[in-house]
Amino acid sequence: MPDIVIIGIIFNPVLARFEIMQYYCIMVYVKEAAGILKRHGYRITAPRKTVIGVLGEAEGPLSPYDIQKCLRANDNSLNHVTIYRILDLLCSLDLVHRVITAGGFMRCTLVNKKGCHRHMICRSCGSVTEFADESLCEKEDAVVRQLGFYAEHHITEFLGLCSSCYDSENGGVDEANPR
Ligand SMILES: [Zn+2]
Ligand SMILES: [Zn+2]
Ligand SMILES: [Zn+2]
Repeated sequence: MPDIVIIGIIFNPVLARFEIMQYYCIMVYVKEAAGILKRHGYRITAPRKTVIGVLGEAEGPLSPYDIQKCLRANDNSLNHVTIYRILDLLCSLDLVHRVITAGGFMRCTLVNKKGCHRHMICRSCGSVTEFADESLCEKEDAVVRQLGFYAEHHITEFLGLCSSCYDSENGGVDEANPR
């Protein structure tokens, strides 16, 4: 990865650098996804590869209908049932997450990162950012354990504002340190 980043910086404008990094991320994602499928004994079929490619390129969550539209735009097609089955498989392998609030599916940006993967959804620009924090999992386990429950997985979506939308709604004033 550092090599690619350096190439981006050398070719200079900020935009070009971003594009190169973005392209690199997609390549890494497709490769990682293929590796994980293989390791779990699944074949990398053309439809699976296609859905992985579409989600890999998407910047935000896509519904199965959105995926179908993307495929049609590229003279490709898969029926709904096939798309749903592939999404189920990719979700079970944590390669894709369902983002309930956004009503769609999104590629995992933290493949192999420990702790449940969670999403922060900006109500203004709609951006979805993923993070994982194992210590948060432990705290949650302890809370429900006191209630007599044994948690195996945690799903949390945080709704609010990303920092740039927060800044523009608050005129760049940090509420914790008002003028
Ligand atoms: Zn993830
Ligand atoms: Zn935002
Ligand atoms: Zn967890």
